Amino acid sequence: MIQLYIPLNFLGVIYREIKQSLTDLDKMFRLLEREREVADVPSALPLDVVGAAVRFEHVNFAYDPTRPILHDVSFEIPAGKKVAVVGPSGSGKSTLARLLYRFYDVDGGAITIDGQDLRAITQASLRRAIGIVPQDTVLFNDTVAYNIAYGRPGASREEVEAAARAAHVHGFIAATPKGYDTMVGERGLKLSGGEKQRVAIARTLLKDPPLLIFDEATSALDSSNERAIQAELESVGRNKTVLVIAHRLSTIVDAHEILVLEAGRIVERGHHQDLLAKQGVYTRMWRLQLSGADGWPSQLA
Ligand code: ATP
Repeated sequence: MIQLYIPLNFLGVIYREIKQSLTDLDKMFRLLEREREVADVPSALPLDVVGAAVRFEHVNFAYDPTRPILHDVSFEIPAGKKVAVVGPSGSGKSTLARLLYRFYDVDGGAITIDGQDLRAITQASLRRAIGIVPQDTVLFNDTVAYNIAYGRPGASREEVEAAARAAHVHGFIAATPKGYDTMVGERGLKLSGGEKQRVAIARTLLKDPPLLIFDEATSALDSSNERAIQAELESVGRNKTVLVIAHRLSTIVDAHEILVLEAGRIVERGHHQDLLAKQGVYTRMWRLQLSGADGWPSQLA
């Protein structure tokens, strides 16, 4: 029995390893595919960051030509300011972020950073300038230290630890048996949504880019954890140019401008107070959230 058990168990391990490698390969191919969507032009120059001011000028975009997603979207994030995008699910909020990171090129109009068209600069320099804290952070099957240092390869253990402390995830890491050498990801220690977001925050702190994209979590965090993470995001974003995809309107009352997106069009825009005065979609959403409703109700779509 024992003799049988061992090989079977061993085969099980091998099977899981192969399955995992295939999953990784699949991810890699999907990434490569994505990379093929855009290419550096031969004359591409590195992005010259001054203050990381962002401009979307009459942007049109479709993933599939038969189904336009964004229609004539124009806005500006002045250097060091925060602009928030809100709207129902599927309205195109994440698409704005993907275009700013240049996963895809716009079909019409232009996106610039400090006056430089994204299509004229190298992708590597663009991605060095941008930090993303996504809704759901993907952790690599590697150590916690690797996952944080990914923000700035070559960072020392001290720098990794300092970033983890600032993101309030050091205590959690220190309490695991192998500390920063603990394996995480699909094959290692499973982290909660909040812990993963803190790792993403630590990664971003270490990278220290001038331009940030925050994709607020829609769920999975309890409210005290959410408030704490929100406070950390606030401090990470201080004096940086920030595009935030927001689900809780309470977190963006201080934004330089709030864009209300519906079916790929900006239907309302302005500061929180201006939007409340309009008594439109934003006001209805604000009242609903004050009454305790979660997210952006589909009936507003
Ligand atoms: P949510 O709040 O649910 O995250 P969102 O406002 O961020 O939604 P997007 O993810 O930008 O919405 O999607 C906008 C539209 O584009 C949706 O209709 C979606 O189905 C479509 N879409 C998103 N990604 C792709 C893709 N890779 N290929 C084709 N269509 C896509």
